[in-house]
Amino acid sequence: MQSAKILRQAALCLLLAVVVLPINSLAEVIPIAQRLDSLLEQLDPDLAFDTRGGLDFPGLQLRTQDCGAYPYNKIDAQAERHLARDLHAALQQGIQCMIGKGPMGQLHRYHEYQAHRLLQILESPRRKTFRCVADRMFANAVATTEKAPSPDDALHELLRETPHPAVVIDTFRVGGLLSTRHPPETYRNFFKLDEEQIREHLTGSPLRAGDSHRYRDLPALLFHEMVHWLGFEHSALYPDMAHLYESCCFGGSDYIDDPQQNAAFQARACNTLRDDELWSNAYSKYRQMRLWRFKGYDRLKSEMRGAY
Ligand SMILES: [Zn+2]
Repeated sequence: MQSAKILRQAALCLLLAVVVLPINSLAEVIPIAQRLDSLLEQLDPDLAFDTRGGLDFPGLQLRTQDCGAYPYNKIDAQAERHLARDLHAALQQGIQCMIGKGPMGQLHRYHEYQAHRLLQILESPRRKTFRCVADRMFANAVATTEKAPSPDDALHELLRETPHPAVVIDTFRVGGLLSTRHPPETYRNFFKLDEEQIREHLTGSPLRAGDSHRYRDLPALLFHEMVHWLGFEHSALYPDMAHLYESCCFGGSDYIDDPQQNAAFQARACNTLRDDELWSNAYSKYRQMRLWRFKGYDRLKSEMRGAY
């Protein structure tokens, strides 16, 4: 009787193992660090094809598009390669950090799983595009999402013509350049430009806007956008993953100049990413929302903004 029961249980276990074991689990046995290395090897610009519109990395189904003026809207024969190098740096630093192999040390295991998800997208046969535009958005860069953009979205047209997964980078915004899309009186009255400057700005090389920001840590920006591919959106109510990973893994904020302040914000972001209670409850959005607020983690982003 007893042995029959044991046999039945063993058979059930075997059945469960076969049913539950995902089909691709064999592929997942390769350690993340090794998958990252192989990805980075393939991101070598010397392996890429030069196409008319950019660089094509055939092993990765990844391409750069129209980025001949990356990053600060100045045409340069090396610009596409510059983007490829920044992408390489972004993935190396970001993923190593998520899996606890970066200088900030071990984070919660939940982030290792997110690193695995990001690698899955990058390793997939889907075409990944890093595209540049000039003076077409209000943001430095925008990531596409699985969902089609809503027609109310100001970037609807732009995102519709760039299939997911993609990151669109605006070289005007990243370069801190003044838009060329204002009505002429705005340059005269608001920006106090004279006629010669207006002409130069609109037809020659665009001027820097007085206090606007030129993004320096471009790998941080690229990594932030790729985190959005995982379906994480900006929020004050839930953990803001793109903001947390950028702040912890890339040393604070590009908008903050003081290194001490940045180090303190970086440490807070990393400590948040280590909180066992917060990440063990990631399966329940409601519980996570309560912890996020209760532990005061929701204040980090606004305090960082206050230091800009
Ligand atoms: Zn974002």
